[in-house]
Amino acid sequence: MAQRISIGTKANPLYDIVIENSFEKLPEELSDKGYEKRRLCIITDSKVAPLYLDEIKKLLSTVFAEVTEYIIPEGEANKNLDTVRAIYESLISKHFGRTDLLAALGGGVVGDITGFTAATYLRGIDFIQIPTTLLAQSDSSIGGKTGVDFNGYKNMIGSFYMPRLVYSNVSALKTLEGRQFVSGFAEVMKSALIKDASFFSWLIDKMYEIKEKDPDILEEMVYQTCNIKKSFVECDPYEKGDRAMLNFGHTLGHAIEKYEKFEMTHGECVALGCIAASFISWKHELLSKDEFYEIRDMFVPFGLPISIDDIVPEKVVELTHSDKKAADGVLKFILLKRVGKAVIDTTVTDEDMIGALNELNFNEND
Ligand code: NAD
Repeated sequence: MAQRISIGTKANPLYDIVIENSFEKLPEELSDKGYEKRRLCIITDSKVAPLYLDEIKKLLSTVFAEVTEYIIPEGEANKNLDTVRAIYESLISKHFGRTDLLAALGGGVVGDITGFTAATYLRGIDFIQIPTTLLAQSDSSIGGKTGVDFNGYKNMIGSFYMPRLVYSNVSALKTLEGRQFVSGFAEVMKSALIKDASFFSWLIDKMYEIKEKDPDILEEMVYQTCNIKKSFVECDPYEKGDRAMLNFGHTLGHAIEKYEKFEMTHGECVALGCIAASFISWKHELLSKDEFYEIRDMFVPFGLPISIDDIVPEKVVELTHSDKKAADGVLKFILLKRVGKAVIDTTVTDEDMIGALNELNFNEND
């Protein structure tokens, strides 16, 4: 059963998120938007292109006057301004104009780069998202955050810029490597933890089907996760308040990602960040000890890490500082009051974070 979520209000509709189990309906979703005289450039990466580019090109050629592509090398290391520059050059050489569009076909890296390119090329052209990783389908393609990493800082340059459509085909997750699939699952868990205790229980209940990539269960899981994201981004699109709760697990997660030189996946680092933030929530007497261990142990059956070897906690904490200082000087840490209820906290200290990282530090605990 296909699912649909509309972002925006009746007076100001922004875009739809469509969750399907094939790409077949993609032309239908775009057919009434007046794109027949417009051109489309599909931005994708070197791993996704051989899998899905031909199919998507064929489908979208029925909607647009012309469909071209630009293929970037896969991986986070390419989420930078050099890649954006190369795409600008390609669009200029194709004489792309204000009414032409971009499509992001791939994971969060492709989505973030394409969105940022669309936001800035000719002061903004339309783009659509066709996310193909679990992380992108359940998180990064929604909410309009776009951008690139800069000088080793994650997502340092970017803008808020909304897509015209998000079309997720959960069947595309079948070709995703196991490690990438579980990486996306960390963001699903994060969403349940901050907003919806019954969804958290459902995830535990459906663990087997999720790991087997049962398409109906995946559709429902992506739908529930997108709905949680919708509830935050609609009332706070520019992250002035509650949207920050979506960053649960990300303060230390991003720092670990950087400390590990991006050799761990984003989701693996987010999982560790969620566990560390839950540990601090326990130490701040928001969660009970049992709740902390229940949360921590939920990451295990999905193959996400709950410990990390040989980190120097002080150095990781230093990295959270430089990131946040550059942003606004105040460390907004997201804690859990209970499963399904997050709170924004500005009292978390370096010592709290070091304590949490020591808890994760496997060799330290041996
Ligand atoms: P990714 O885009 O690097 O994709 C992971 C790998 O999977 C890549 O090698 C890719 O080529 C491959 N891949 C993609 N789809 C595939 C498929 N269907 N089959 C086989 N292989 C496939 O990583 P990701 O985890 O999707 O995204 C991580 C990025 O998302 C990070 O840069 C992170 O900062 C960003 N992010 C952005 C937001 C946001 O709101 N904009 C939110 C969360 C994360």
